[in-house]
Amino acid sequence: MSRGGRTRSLARRVTDAIMRHLDYRPTLGRINLQVPDERSVFCWSDKWKLDDTDHECRHFTVILKLKRKRGTELDIGAEVGSDLFGEPVITYQIFYDRQNKSAREEIYYELLGISAHEIEHLTEEGLLAFQGPRQHKTYMGFPDSGKMLHNLNDMHRLFSPGTDKDLWAQRDLIATRNSFENEEVYLICALELNAFVKGFYEQARAARRPIDFFMRSYLNDYVKHGRIQQHHAELVLDIWRTWTHLRFPKARWLDT
Ligand SMILES: [Zn+2]
Repeated sequence: MSRGGRTRSLARRVTDAIMRHLDYRPTLGRINLQVPDERSVFCWSDKWKLDDTDHECRHFTVILKLKRKRGTELDIGAEVGSDLFGEPVITYQIFYDRQNKSAREEIYYELLGISAHEIEHLTEEGLLAFQGPRQHKTYMGFPDSGKMLHNLNDMHRLFSPGTDKDLWAQRDLIATRNSFENEEVYLICALELNAFVKGFYEQARAARRPIDFFMRSYLNDYVKHGRIQQHHAELVLDIWRTWTHLRFPKARWLDT
């Protein structure tokens, strides 16, 4: 199985379903998606072994909140959560102008990237997260198995080698909780880093453009709105680049 292949198709299915809803259906939508098989949620590692647990959860729901308004600028927000029954849900809020045909392609690739990002969250921890390969190190306050833990071990090794692992993880967790005051931390914290990179990778691959084209334009937006400063943007890009080299060595860059 190729890296990323199955999750990409899951992200594409979500994106296609949303695109079908966009213009003709009510402004509130609900789409149920079946996860075709366990492998489809693992995504990036051939070495990843499945556990034997019989998982009950093989689906997730997409909730759509659409705001159509003439002249409005495209804005897509999404978050993962669970419904009243504890089932996984991705909620999208989309502002767009349906007269603006040139935004069509932009919506598609952006939705694809965001969907890959959110599905990655669902598979890192929570109901769609399977156990994965055994890990030697665990971290206080984080799951003790699964993809999240695997990521944490790689991040600690890459970005803070030799430091106390629990202190490192705690600092990161605290920074994440205060991320609204500290957005440059949010963009690179352990809970978000992998999802961001995954989203940009899939978006770039589908649009056949270099990955840093999307990373830079995303960060430029943050700088433009005063959410981070230019030197933070450079720092974030460096860390995203390092993580991309590890997870997606085949990604294409503007300057290579
Ligand atoms: Zn996220």
